[in-house]
Amino acid sequence: MEYYLRCIDCGKKYEREDIYTCECGGLLEVAIDFDSVEIDFKFDGNELRVWKYRCLLPVKREPVSLKEGGTPLYHATKLAEELGCKVYVKHEGANPSGSFKDRGMTVGVTKAIELGRNAVACASTGNTSASMAMYAAKAGLKAYVLLPAGKVALGKVAQALMHGAKVIGIRGNFDEALALVRKISEEEGFYLLNSVNPFRLEGQKTIAYEIVDEIGTPDRVVLPVGNAGNISAIYKGFKELKELGLIDSIPKMSGVQAEGANPIYKAVMECREDIDPVLKPETVATAIRIGQPVNAKKALRAIYESNGTAVQVSDEEIIRAQKDLAAKEGIGVEPASAASVAGLRKLVAEGVVERDETVVCITTGHLLKDPEAVIRACGQPIEVDASLEAIRAVL
Ligand SMILES: *Cc1c(COP(=O)(O)O)cnc(C)c1O
Ligand SMILES: [Zn+2]
Repeated sequence: MEYYLRCIDCGKKYEREDIYTCECGGLLEVAIDFDSVEIDFKFDGNELRVWKYRCLLPVKREPVSLKEGGTPLYHATKLAEELGCKVYVKHEGANPSGSFKDRGMTVGVTKAIELGRNAVACASTGNTSASMAMYAAKAGLKAYVLLPAGKVALGKVAQALMHGAKVIGIRGNFDEALALVRKISEEEGFYLLNSVNPFRLEGQKTIAYEIVDEIGTPDRVVLPVGNAGNISAIYKGFKELKELGLIDSIPKMSGVQAEGANPIYKAVMECREDIDPVLKPETVATAIRIGQPVNAKKALRAIYESNGTAVQVSDEEIIRAQKDLAAKEGIGVEPASAASVAGLRKLVAEGVVERDETVVCITTGHLLKDPEAVIRACGQPIEVDASLEAIRAVL
């Protein structure tokens, strides 16, 4: 497969791969030469995983893989009953490190090695660092992580530390951490693995491929939006399948943001092509606590071109959806992931989603990522004396 990097703003093409943005400052995307593609997989619902679609992924060497992808797509029957549309949940929490970031990292870390780098770096609200640390460990690369101190869920920090990354908490928010890590990476020659990296997004587009592989093209895909890489990646996946003639339509890409971190939502409401940053983003859903999404332009195009939309939800609505997914569907997710279902609820209530639509909600990360949020939402277990009477009394 032939490909090159192309600027989404000025269209400039690059043969070199060791850059993250265009000279004009625009975002880059991997442009595939479709004539050079030889499809060697079948959409038969079998053996789903990221590397099933290797003929559409821009790498040249044996991938660094931890068997990512192939996540379960559940038919959420109770939610479907409540909402009156056909609801599926694709549970990305079932990836090796517990979030969809693994799909990006398997490609991104493979690219780091192709480019001859021996260290990778990222800023993170948590899951990027957990995933990057894991894949760097597998590949034998050094890993450097900048986190907003005190604002990252416990499970994610634990993963980054145990997989051997150098973890640095900064007294600032994610947006500041990202600006800093971009500078440091350039100075030190670290390969930057935030979602500004176009190769990382290539891995994440396989979410679209797997959905089509299993159920064909849904009418709508609903997912949480933070730095806005994933919605851009999934849209790109569907668009490529359409350009290859493998599907006929593209789902309406529908992004969900928290009320306290809603720049994409506001831009969509005003039909704008770019965002006004939110300077002090705040939400229980720490994975989407981002005020200045780097991929805003790509995400807004994905939403407009697919006839999708954006919606905002409150922290209460997010926690309610998290509890419902866990207690009614048996799907354990972290708060940001539950934003997808909270957002779908709102879109149904607003009459945006039609009754007969087939909708796929992406639940981006696992319940165990953020145990502290769970205890705040559910309280501590009841504690009683070690006697039958005491237990009977509380049953
Ligand atoms: C990274 C992440 C998001 C946000 O994805 P973006 O690509 O930054 O929009 C949402 N949920 C979880 C659990 C994440 O880890
Ligand atoms: Zn450009």
